[in-house]
Amino acid sequence: MKSLEEVGSEGNHWLGEYQDVHMHVFGKPLRVLDHGKGAHVWDVDGNEYLDFLGGIAVNSLGYAHPKWVAAVAEQAGKMAHISNYFASEAQISLARMLIDKAGAPEGSHVYFGNSGAEGNEAALKLAKLYGRTLPGATPHLGGKDARIIALTHGFHGRTLGALSATWKPAIREPFAPLVPNIEFAESGDIEAMREAFRRTGQGKYGKGPVAAVIMELIQGEAGVRAMNPEYVQGVRALCDEYGALLIFDEVQTGIGRTGAWFAFQREDLSGGVIPDAVTFAKGVAGGFPMGGLIAFGESLSALFTPGSHGSTFAGNPLAAAAGVATLTAIEDEHLIDNAEERGAQLRDALSNSGNPLFVSARGRGLLDAVELSHPCAHAAVDWALERGLIVNAVAPDALRFAPPLVVSSQDIETGVGILSGMPDDLKDD
Ligand SMILES: *Cc1c(COP(=O)(O)O)cnc(C)c1O
Repeated sequence: MKSLEEVGSEGNHWLGEYQDVHMHVFGKPLRVLDHGKGAHVWDVDGNEYLDFLGGIAVNSLGYAHPKWVAAVAEQAGKMAHISNYFASEAQISLARMLIDKAGAPEGSHVYFGNSGAEGNEAALKLAKLYGRTLPGATPHLGGKDARIIALTHGFHGRTLGALSATWKPAIREPFAPLVPNIEFAESGDIEAMREAFRRTGQGKYGKGPVAAVIMELIQGEAGVRAMNPEYVQGVRALCDEYGALLIFDEVQTGIGRTGAWFAFQREDLSGGVIPDAVTFAKGVAGGFPMGGLIAFGESLSALFTPGSHGSTFAGNPLAAAAGVATLTAIEDEHLIDNAEERGAQLRDALSNSGNPLFVSARGRGLLDAVELSHPCAHAAVDWALERGLIVNAVAPDALRFAPPLVVSSQDIETGVGILSGMPDDLKDD
């Protein structure tokens, strides 16, 4: 693997052009990439990188997986887009597979969108319709609008609805006022959740009923922070007691990433809790934009009727074919087992690296983080990149790892080998 001191000349040329023509919402890109293979990717100057980020948990099959490439090419050669006046085999197969993999009950239905935010927009709209069916939730009859509860440190996307349920004040507050009746309860604190539910009531100070709780089982953007399963059980019990929906945002954790098809299928995350709806996106189509929602059971699914929701691209055949190829390869190549094993290997190796910079490793499957002894994550990313390894600064004091599910044992050794040599006096963010 070639080491690299700085971006090469070809890369520099393109990065200058990038800055000229793109709105500056992402900061300057680290490199200009050209092509990849498996868990490895090359930039326009020919430098190779081992990718422990996988397009932020998106590239489930890595780069240019032959079966994915063949499926997308074949679908492109037949038809790419058809509108929702028509259906395709690929979208029907993918919906069926997702319901099966989620173990969702008879009568469950899928809505397809194009991103994680859109999956959550669909879930929030469904929750609003559900909220109107609750006693005391009809303002024109003297009731009060239903509420949705999200968690502190949670992330659900950047569109206005999803942003309303996203906690981080710095990215949410500049766009206030947002969707009303979305509240935050302290993540992991069951008493805080109970309090939020108890505010429902008659009279001047009582609030409307709770339509739904939306939460992640591992808060990815917050630094890969897993929920305590007892807390999740407690939230489920409150939702049952008050008739609220429990929605799991599995945009980052879903589709094999955490060593199960969905994170809620892991006892050590969910405590066995079954949600009423699950959103998915990132890894589902192996790099093709797609996201959506699985509503569990017939009665919840039936709240969406023609006109309730939609998108021109929803269920697009090309995205759906990419999704079918992705789920099929995950199954055929036992990539969920690989996620579990490679994740354990990664966390163990980091914990035993002897590098004083690494305080502790956490995560499940191949959604992991290492906590740093001081807030130097950005310098750590640059340092690793110059040595041919892509990692992510998910917090000032944490690096996130979400390699492709196809990552090999050798790749993990190589990556940890690089990380082990990271100096512990890097510059703070
Ligand atoms: C990435 C992410 C989203 C947003 O997905 P986009 O495709 O960027 O809109 C929502 N929820 C979670 C948990 C995520 O990790």
